[in-house]
Amino acid sequence: MAAIAVIGGGVIGCAVAERLSRERRHRVVLLERDVVGSHASGAAAGLLAPHSEHLGDDTPGGASLALYPELVARVERCGIGVEFRTQETLALALSVEEERVLRQSSASWLDAADACQREPEVSPSILGAAVYEEAQVTPIRLVHALARTAVRQGAEIREGTPVWGLSVHADLVGSVQVPGDSVQADWVVLAAGPWSSGLAAPLGVTLDVRPSRGQLVTLRPVRACLSRVVVWRGCYLVPKPDGTIVAGSTEEEVGFDPRPTAEGVGGLLRFAARAVPVLGSATVERVWAALRPATPDGRPVVGPAPGISNLLLATGHNRNGILLAPLTAELVARAIP
Ligand SMILES: Cc1cc2nc3c(=O)[nH]c(=O)nc-3n(C[C@H](O)[C@H](O)[C@H](O)COP(=O)(O)OP(=O)(O)OC[C@H]3O[C@@H](n4cnc5c(N)ncnc54)[C@H](O)[C@@H]3O)c2cc1C
Repeated sequence: MAAIAVIGGGVIGCAVAERLSRERRHRVVLLERDVVGSHASGAAAGLLAPHSEHLGDDTPGGASLALYPELVARVERCGIGVEFRTQETLALALSVEEERVLRQSSASWLDAADACQREPEVSPSILGAAVYEEAQVTPIRLVHALARTAVRQGAEIREGTPVWGLSVHADLVGSVQVPGDSVQADWVVLAAGPWSSGLAAPLGVTLDVRPSRGQLVTLRPVRACLSRVVVWRGCYLVPKPDGTIVAGSTEEEVGFDPRPTAEGVGGLLRFAARAVPVLGSATVERVWAALRPATPDGRPVVGPAPGISNLLLATGHNRNGILLAPLTAELVARAIP
């Protein structure tokens, strides 16, 4: 049995722990500084959106979405429902240029009348909308279901356990230092989100993952007004099972500051009222922000660290870590014999 230490209890670390403990071939310990899902993974909107995020069907986004139904069926046996559902996304065009771009990239185009028939509250000034089959989930529930399933499969999850460093000898990680202890490991999976670079740097591993702040607002509309996800210019409105609508999101490089701002929230409220005018009278229920792990080229980093063959990197998922978690866990599992 290989001993595997997973650093980070976000959706990526929890998905990896669940996947690696599934066949009970490995001894898995997950080390989380705070509590599982306490950062971006618990804060995310929960869109599983390879098309409207322009990741496409034949790319990792589409492949990861295809893994969801089976994963959901398995982890929900632990008693936590993750609120997975497939649904349509409407990508709105409010200008001729937006219409041109969307028509090029979408197989399915609705003219304004058809789009307004499906979603009568969207802005009457739309020129049309691209329509995609996508899905959503409630991220904090997913993280908890993954973690609980991993524990049931024999994994150990240590919350309140910050990793202080890793010991490397002869180009192999031997142990992971935590307060008052040293965890021996045959393999280490680094899934510490935007904090991953700081843990990799002392080992001589250059990993360019930076925090990208995203803000979100939960709106309670005066009446039910949306049954599909609506996206426009990189922002989205996500109808949730409790009748609220989550409006997101900003993308800001402000270091490790996870606080929402007046400007960020104001921009999201203006977007919401422009796309679906009745949302101008909605109640604001919650405002929050978190830090995505972003890379310069926008692509995740999954695989062995250069020069340290038993250190696996699993980070940099930026806007799509919830979507990409199942595929990332598969890729990590394939890298461990
Ligand atoms: C506003 C917003 C909306 C989003 N919406 C979506 C969406 O709709 N769909 C989607 O697919 N993605 C979405 N994302 C992106 C998604 O949330 C992230 O890509 C994903 O959560 C990253 O997961 P992670 O596990 O890599 O990182 P994190 O969730 O950041 O988890 C990393 C964990 O590592 C822990 N850690 C850090 N340092 C240490 C240490 N030294 N020792 C131990 N533990 C440590 C942290 O405490 C943290 O819990 C959104 C993100 C934001 C901010």
